[in-house]
Amino acid sequence: MTNTSKVITCKGAVCWGAGEAVRLEEIQVDPPKANEVRVKMICASICHTDITSIQGLLPFFRYPIALGHEGVGVVESVGDGVTNLKEGDMVIPTYIGECQECENCISGKSNLCLTYPMRISGLMPDNTSRLSCKGNNLYYCLTFATWSEYTVIDVNYLIKVDPIINPAHASFISCGFSTGYGAAWREAKVESGSSVVVFGLGAVGLGVISGAKTLGAKKIIGIDTNNLKREKGEAFGMTHFINPNDSDKSPSTLVKELSDGFGVDYSFECTGVAPLLTECLEATKMGSGKAISIGAGNEATVPLGHLSLLFGRTLKGSIFGGLKAISDLSIIADKCLKQEFPLEELHSHEVQLEDVNEAFELLKQPNCVKIVIKM
Ligand SMILES: [Zn+2]
Ligand SMILES: [Zn+2]
Repeated sequence: MTNTSKVITCKGAVCWGAGEAVRLEEIQVDPPKANEVRVKMICASICHTDITSIQGLLPFFRYPIALGHEGVGVVESVGDGVTNLKEGDMVIPTYIGECQECENCISGKSNLCLTYPMRISGLMPDNTSRLSCKGNNLYYCLTFATWSEYTVIDVNYLIKVDPIINPAHASFISCGFSTGYGAAWREAKVESGSSVVVFGLGAVGLGVISGAKTLGAKKIIGIDTNNLKREKGEAFGMTHFINPNDSDKSPSTLVKELSDGFGVDYSFECTGVAPLLTECLEATKMGSGKAISIGAGNEATVPLGHLSLLFGRTLKGSIFGGLKAISDLSIIADKCLKQEFPLEELHSHEVQLEDVNEAFELLKQPNCVKIVIKM
């Protein structure tokens, strides 16, 4: 028990203000306080929310910000009172906790734990920061920062995983892929034999496809403007592909043409592109269709086709795909370990932490799905 008392100086990706360039800085990482662990990151990955945090597109991000929220690492030291984790444990962060005692946790209706909620203050639960740079406290993207060699995380926002897990795949399931998978599994509760459409085939959309396939959906339609996403979708179980640029018809019309004219049972909006929310709703069956909004867009309010909604359809929003951090994410981690999903299909690019800025160019490549940042 010696290293817990020392501040570690290491490299970390920092954004000093909304819309500013990402800089690799020397940062100071404090020892963990009570109920916290300091984690040596193995790798991280990039999710759309990271871009949002760099560009300042959501109002709650604070600067300077230590970036990243997907990743996997090894516990380097533990704070007082930590009993469930020890040095050397492999962990992935989760941005919502699960106390298993609050109203939402025991209701079975929601994953939005009231005791350990998604933290948008950018600070630890005691409202202070463990990371600093040039004398400035750094804010977190959500509940931690993963694009750093070391980070400090509250133990209620971590799960332990088997150390033989593929690190890149562990990183992917810490947010994007699991969000999609959970949206099909826990939020929509897709039924066997049903029909599904997914708007946007990034890691989240591919996660929805994977979840829908596991649950026995018969028809799984993927929509994307990038034709390279067809083979990715098929790898996870997609049965039909629509590129909306190939037609003058609306995406919802194209979906109905593929589903007896009535639309699908479940529809998932993973892009955050505002007008697609109505398309997502309209693509479902009148009277019973369920649309799930997963993609965080850039607009605070979105127009919605009221008639689509009035005709008996349900629109449900979802954070982290309705997944509970302990009960559900551990099941996904187990499936990941058993290679039940072809997560290698997501792993399109890698960069070293010091070359993190190259990642933003790689994101523009049509064949880019997920970029792994190696420490
Ligand atoms: Zn994310
Ligand atoms: Zn709770």
